[in-house]
Amino acid sequence: MVKQRETYKKRSAKDGYKTCSKCEENKAVSEFHKSKANADGYNYYCKQCVKNYSKWKYANDPDYRAKIKNYNKQWVIDNRAHVNARAREYAAKRRATDPEYVERHRMYDRRALDRNPERRERNRIKSKEWYFEQGVAYKQKYNEQRRHRYANDPEFKQRVYVSILKRQRAMRGGDISLTGEQWETIIEQHEGRCVYCGCIPQVMTVDHVVPLSKGGAHNAYNVVPSCSSCNSSKNSKMPEKLQMKIPVLTDFEEL
Ligand SMILES: [Zn+2]
Ligand SMILES: [Zn+2]
Repeated sequence: MVKQRETYKKRSAKDGYKTCSKCEENKAVSEFHKSKANADGYNYYCKQCVKNYSKWKYANDPDYRAKIKNYNKQWVIDNRAHVNARAREYAAKRRATDPEYVERHRMYDRRALDRNPERRERNRIKSKEWYFEQGVAYKQKYNEQRRHRYANDPEFKQRVYVSILKRQRAMRGGDISLTGEQWETIIEQHEGRCVYCGCIPQVMTVDHVVPLSKGGAHNAYNVVPSCSSCNSSKNSKMPEKLQMKIPVLTDFEEL
């Protein structure tokens, strides 16, 4: 009887400290969750022990696991605005500090648009309208930025070039069927190397073996990965004219 009272005393909050009845460590009351059911106002178990227990339960009790998953799902639904704001915050932080993250997400976006050309067209119209609404000064600034990027970013320059030719070609009914996914497969097939010099460039550009300006198609059968310096020295010439190595094309029928 006496012993029990002692145990009780030992475990209740005193001078801001309390002994956890699981790990039996003496911890500050701030290390315990509050509980109205207990005389001293705190849980029997410390926060860490509660956490360990629920972790164990999550791993071993399917019903509990389902309950937690459901609860989390519902929480996300109920706090959509908060979740979206946090995601935006996180993305902005990554964009500001991690160029690889930016590049990766640009690629995801492009791929998603490859799969959904209607959305690309909708986006194009929407952004056109948006720029129109921003007024002339904004448009000038935007064009200035694009000109700067065009002059300094070979990959961007190539994208602009290809997209103009693609548009012209599409209007004439030509083949522009290269998708982002095919392009990545082609890069993989070449182990990320430039087909002409064999380097592994930071910026990989699309080289049209038969140049677009000479009627070559923008499809999987006419493109090879090339570093920007080989690509620009090849320019719109055929590789055999330059005594460059004639690249082996990826055979998509075999894949
Ligand atoms: Zn504990
Ligand atoms: Zn090269």
